[in-house]
Amino acid sequence: MKAFMDKDFLLSTEMAKHLYHEIAEDLPIIDYHCHLNPQEIYEDRQFENITQVWLGGDHYKWRLMRSAGVEEKFITGDASDREKFQKWAETIGLAVGNPLYHWSHLELRNYFGYDGILNGDTAEEVWQLCNEKLKVLSARKLIEGSNVKALCTTDDPADSLEWHKKIAEDESFGVKVLPSYRPDKAMGIEKADYLDYLKRLGEIGSFSQLVEVLKRRLAFFVSFGCRVSDHGMEAVPYAPATADEVEAIFQKRRAGVLPTASEEKQFKTALLLELGREYHRLGVVMQLHFGVTRDNSRRVFRALGPDAGVDSIGDAPSIKELAAFLGALDDTGELPKTILYSLNPNDNAALVTVMGAFQTGEAVSKLQHGSAWWFNDHKAGMIEQLTTLAADGYLAGFVGMLTDSRSFLSYARHEYFRRILCELIGSWVENGEYPNDESALRTIVEGISIKNAERYFGL
Ligand SMILES: [Zn+2]
Repeated sequence: MKAFMDKDFLLSTEMAKHLYHEIAEDLPIIDYHCHLNPQEIYEDRQFENITQVWLGGDHYKWRLMRSAGVEEKFITGDASDREKFQKWAETIGLAVGNPLYHWSHLELRNYFGYDGILNGDTAEEVWQLCNEKLKVLSARKLIEGSNVKALCTTDDPADSLEWHKKIAEDESFGVKVLPSYRPDKAMGIEKADYLDYLKRLGEIGSFSQLVEVLKRRLAFFVSFGCRVSDHGMEAVPYAPATADEVEAIFQKRRAGVLPTASEEKQFKTALLLELGREYHRLGVVMQLHFGVTRDNSRRVFRALGPDAGVDSIGDAPSIKELAAFLGALDDTGELPKTILYSLNPNDNAALVTVMGAFQTGEAVSKLQHGSAWWFNDHKAGMIEQLTTLAADGYLAGFVGMLTDSRSFLSYARHEYFRRILCELIGSWVENGEYPNDESALRTIVEGISIKNAERYFGL
């Protein structure tokens, strides 16, 4: 029997161990998509206790605790931080096969030097140890200690980027913290507070003015080093409309009337196409996240708002519409570098084949299948994503892992990913499916670990 999570965790063959320990392990990290708060980075936030770090906003953990039958009082309610930690420790102690089990133990090892096992019995010892260590840990120390070279936060176009500016001017901190452009609110014409949001962007009287303002904000983001945009949506829309039709939909919304479903789709198609062309012109990567059904429990949503652990995988989005959307940009040579993420793992093969239809010599893997996302961010999900990309696309060009996290401890997920990557490629070599060619293997593993991302995002 192998030891529990030892140095060869997830590495079962000599080749896998070689690829991981000799090539991947010590490479720096580029975290090209996360939700860290730049103000907390600038102010070098510290945490009072491990519950604040681990359970403060982590809805992955909340839903696991609910599944284990923990009362809400101990999850998001008014129980003390120590009581919440106890319930978490009892929950995780039995969460066999769940990635949170592995992530939590990697974090305990990497950041707190704890080699033991977290469960209800050890909760007090872990609580004491972590809280003691947290006295000397901080946001910046955690980022630097994780060997992060650059990270991309997620920001609204109306954001002043004041914290990014301050971080860039602070010579004591060597990690690049770049903004990412996420105009979901500008796309959200169906939302009740849409007109209030528009006011945050300025005086906007027409659709063409909206496009102009969003382009100006994008240029502002680019002046701060922004290399990537992001869109979250249920499905990538494609419903072409004339300029007059789109303007009429926008004017109707300005007059306070909500759009019909088809008008909403026409508006979103038009705006996303405009932005896509601009991303191409400025060399900004376009990320599209879709396939989610959000806020399924209205009861929890009413109490806690969004991102409370009650989202799920949605119906398969329309591959036909996604392909038509990408095709519309490709038609005029204005398709930007694009990363596709569907939360529905059933879409993986379809996405990779759609990508293949639009690849060009403009970049290595100009279209990318994003790293196994959210409910797929686990061992089986990663193996599935990597295997499909290898079989139907070009794994060697993959930009690799991101954390998509709000926590400063989540860099352990890059380690988790690299171990799984090395195990998978190592197994192909061990099995005679790929030659034991050190130079090629190094190019592939270094590429997926960091170099492809550096090249793709121009960092
Ligand atoms: Zn995200």
